[in-house]
Amino acid sequence: MTRRKEMFEEINQDLLGFLDSSPTSFHAVENMKHMLERAGCQRLMEGRHWELKKGVGYYVTRNDSSLIAFRVPEKNFLGFQIMAGHSDSPALKIKANAELLVEKKYVRLNVEKYGGMLCAPWLDRPLSVAGRVVVRTLDGVESRLVNVDRDLLIIPNLAIHMNRKVNEGYEFNAQRDLLPLFGGEEAADGFMKVVAEAAKVGTEEILDMDLFLYNRMKGTLLGMNREFIAAPRLDDLQCVFASLKGFLEAAPGRSVPVHCVLDNEEVGSSTKQGADSTFLKDVLQRINSAMGRGQEEYLTALASSFMVSADNAHSVHPNQPDKADPVNRPFMNEGIVIKYSANQKYTTDAVSGAVFKAICEKAEVPYQVFFNRSDMVGGSTLGNISNSQVALNTVDIGLPQLAMHSCYETAGAKDTLYLAEAARVLYSSSVCGDGDGAYRMVW
Ligand code: ZN
Repeated sequence: MTRRKEMFEEINQDLLGFLDSSPTSFHAVENMKHMLERAGCQRLMEGRHWELKKGVGYYVTRNDSSLIAFRVPEKNFLGFQIMAGHSDSPALKIKANAELLVEKKYVRLNVEKYGGMLCAPWLDRPLSVAGRVVVRTLDGVESRLVNVDRDLLIIPNLAIHMNRKVNEGYEFNAQRDLLPLFGGEEAADGFMKVVAEAAKVGTEEILDMDLFLYNRMKGTLLGMNREFIAAPRLDDLQCVFASLKGFLEAAPGRSVPVHCVLDNEEVGSSTKQGADSTFLKDVLQRINSAMGRGQEEYLTALASSFMVSADNAHSVHPNQPDKADPVNRPFMNEGIVIKYSANQKYTTDAVSGAVFKAICEKAEVPYQVFFNRSDMVGGSTLGNISNSQVALNTVDIGLPQLAMHSCYETAGAKDTLYLAEAARVLYSSSVCGDGDGAYRMVW
């Protein structure tokens, strides 16, 4: 018991470090690259020829914001065992020519919304800026990661005295209410200098940028027994981190383990690096052909493959418990949530749900079930979008959390370890099927 308690503490401390150093999808990918390389995985480039060796782990990135890692089994492989999550979170993105002057006294920054965010939590707290800049080189352009990494901005609320009705509900106007304050009059023309300094380049070298605001408040474990984890970007980096931990700890199996992290889920996935792109399909096909196999063997392998679409789920809310389904009620720290939806917004069906339950039982971790209330339209995720590109038996799961799409979310500390353990079992196993409805699990 004590050992597991230590493991809960350890994995969440690691997760907090990962979240803190991953303010954007670009940084999350960079941190995963380091973790994979430390474990001996080798980098592949999409634009170069792939030569794969049996028993070796590899990773490939697209747009520096999506990443797929896999390991080639020693023997001829049966299929692919995939866990997919997303690297992005809702945020405010900085527009070009960002500085806006207010009566020559204040400098604000011009921003727009990325994704379906809860707006209120972004106000009245220290914020900073991170992302990437693209700079001139001698023969072209090159991308540089940037994180200003200091308290830089704030989006101030209007005092209650100037809107007495604000607590009865407020509609945020993104162009008026969500612009951060950058400085006093001396700050004019300073923003790009701050960015260039953080990127260690000259301002004149910067040709373009993808920069986002992020919450400076660090993640923490809280509650009477430190049973909750509260932090920015738990959706979906908690799942992504648990998947990577499971991938790195998995024993070699008969199938190819594939840790897949895609960008742009929060804006519909339809980018070249999103779930609606060919990235996953391209990688699976290249693994297949690099191992000297043809199209027939590729399609056979897909029938014996399994995908877990891992994206956080809603826990019953302590202050509004009636928002959840009457009987299928996930709670934090009570295990991985399997998500169902009759109209297939989630990919889970009786077969993929049952297979995932068997994986959880093998991993000795609890699971629970989520349905939306029948009178509520829920969110969607990347599982069914990815299936339109590469069709596989897929289950939609997630870890239960509160305040989804806030810039500071709350989840269960135990659940991180539960998912890492289930991921380890998934990546070590195979789910063999011929397409006749029967599946054999090879552990
Ligand atoms: Zn998500």
